[in-house]
Amino acid sequence: MNQKHQVILASGNAGKLKEFNHAFADLNIELTPQPKTAAYDVAETGTTFIENAIIKARHTSKLSALPALADDSGLIVPALHGQPGVYSARYAGKHGNDLDNLNLLLENMQGIENRTAHFYCCLVYLRHHQDPDPIVAKGIWHGNIAQQASGEGGFGYDPVFFVENHQCTAAELPKSVKQQISHRALAIRHITPLLAQLTNA
Ligand code: IMP
Repeated sequence: MNQKHQVILASGNAGKLKEFNHAFADLNIELTPQPKTAAYDVAETGTTFIENAIIKARHTSKLSALPALADDSGLIVPALHGQPGVYSARYAGKHGNDLDNLNLLLENMQGIENRTAHFYCCLVYLRHHQDPDPIVAKGIWHGNIAQQASGEGGFGYDPVFFVENHQCTAAELPKSVKQQISHRALAIRHITPLLAQLTNA
């Protein structure tokens, strides 16, 4: 086999690295996490998921001088004009406070009949930091915002994201099922053949 393409993941999240590595097992890619140094942190100043994914990929690619893969995801609620959207991780103010975020969401959904929502994931691959033609893939997972939180699994808004096909919240789904049907799983499925084409060319 040819030498593997070194690619850096614009994230320090070990769970994401594992999920990507599993999906890319047959590709000619060696994916490594970005170093855990503050220099790799970058402000996500975009209004859209794709802007934020590009910001992250470009920053990481520039620092490492390697091709970079970045993801950005969140929850979109049409009845709330797309909120929490790109602010999903910091909806209630403090970054990563999952409980406060979902409680604020439930509060803001009080009295609203249209409870449809979707998780959205955008993946971006940059060959180098000035790449004018990023490889982009997205995945969408449809559901409804439940009246109350339920379930212990998952993270973020999973306890309030009701999945019709399975008649439970994302937090009640077995991890193996979520990994088949989630927004991230779908985006990964879309980008895998595109990366295969690129790295086997
Ligand atoms: P990230 O882009 O993967 O870091 O996700 C940003 C935020 O979106 C998270 O902090 C969660 O609040 C929300 N989010 C993204 N994916 C999921 C998911 O699969 N379940 C629940 N919440 C999610």
